[in-house]
Amino acid sequence: MANKSRSVYRGWAQGKQMQTLLREIAKKIKNMLLYEANKEEYHCVTNLGEHFIILRNDKGTYLCPVCGSAEFDEPPYNKDGTASFQICSCGFEFGYDDSHLASKDATESVISSWNRWRLKVIDNNKRNKQSLEKLEHNLNQIGYKLAFDLIPIKKSGNI
Ligand SMILES: [Zn+2]
Repeated sequence: MANKSRSVYRGWAQGKQMQTLLREIAKKIKNMLLYEANKEEYHCVTNLGEHFIILRNDKGTYLCPVCGSAEFDEPPYNKDGTASFQICSCGFEFGYDDSHLASKDATESVISSWNRWRLKVIDNNKRNKQSLEKLEHNLNQIGYKLAFDLIPIKKSGNI
């Protein structure tokens, strides 16, 4: 009898675990769909042929491609890849920090410059839980999640 009630309990507990798991999966799918639905892509190609995408949210605000912060009324880059020279709150200046003519650190492509700067932003925010959470949320908006060691990982998708 005791064994039976134990196995009934185990079945119930596994059912609960399964429910929790399914709920988690449903939440993830919903977030993915929301992410896809609320973003508009702005495609840019530089004169060197580099292609990248700037995202705009449903309020018409452009997102920083480095940190994901939504703070630009104008796109940080034009469709021909020329930069706006706006400076994001993460410190990145479009057209400066990604230009080898201007910045000695920018020896690579525009996207590589963003990636390099993103690591710096994470490093600057990692000691404060609140700012790290905010950064993580913003990065999520541009298709990145942070691994346990705070390395940004690109989520599947077309950006
Ligand atoms: Zn930024």
